[in-house]
Amino acid sequence: MPRQQHAKLYIEKIIEKAMEESNVESKNESVKDAIHDALRLMRDSGFPISGKVEIAVDADLPFMGYSTQRAEGNVIVVAGRAVESGMIEGLLIHELCHIYRTEQNHPSHNKDLLNRVGYHLLHEYELHKDYQVKTIQQAVNHIQDLYADDISFQVFRKSHAFTEEQAHAFFLDWIDDTPAGGRSIRTRWINIDVMLNNCFAFSNLTRHGVRDIDGKVQKAVEAFLSQTDEAISQASPYFKEFMTNLKEDVSEPQFEKDLTEYLNKIVKLAQQTQ
Ligand SMILES: [Zn+2]
Repeated sequence: MPRQQHAKLYIEKIIEKAMEESNVESKNESVKDAIHDALRLMRDSGFPISGKVEIAVDADLPFMGYSTQRAEGNVIVVAGRAVESGMIEGLLIHELCHIYRTEQNHPSHNKDLLNRVGYHLLHEYELHKDYQVKTIQQAVNHIQDLYADDISFQVFRKSHAFTEEQAHAFFLDWIDDTPAGGRSIRTRWINIDVMLNNCFAFSNLTRHGVRDIDGKVQKAVEAFLSQTDEAISQASPYFKEFMTNLKEDVSEPQFEKDLTEYLNKIVKLAQQTQ
């Protein structure tokens, strides 16, 4: 056996051993308890989930978690570090709210509609670069997250799972106050992505009447805007308004129209000559 391969196998064995000895079992048990609690809180708050929900822990997931639909039902995948973060309950409630929106057929969670709008946009403007696709995907995710969190916040308030101070600290942390430097097209897309991300965090707090303690969120958002290029800075209020004013009761055609306009504005902003 070549030496390198041998070394690799050896490392795998050590990892296997470490896994056996770690508390994988108890970790899964605590996640199971957490999902039962979260499902109960959803039901008690008036947002029952009717489908089956399974949960999986992915030790290597680079972000906190996501939910997906499989033939056998809904699956929520959470990161190993999310389990250890103490925020697992809040995360599970957020993911369950996506599932609830999907079960209720809310336009923001209609896969066909989103695919149609997304595909059309990427095709029309020939957006193939990974940073372009990522920015568009994130822009759509923000809208979905806002609709999911309209429910999460109601559940949090009822269950005291996430206080206003925690929400403020969490979304303040979400905001990036320093733009990427340089004047390449890629940088521009990245800064638009950050601007949208900041708008999302700020709008989410505004939608739920969370007080901006010492104006910290506002200051962080403004710090970013004062350093980024003027067109991005000037466009920001439109996106903040758009996200803040999303309506609960919106028809599918109206949502499709609004989403298309919002995404078109993003691409036009990215393509604007500097
Ligand atoms: Zn989400």
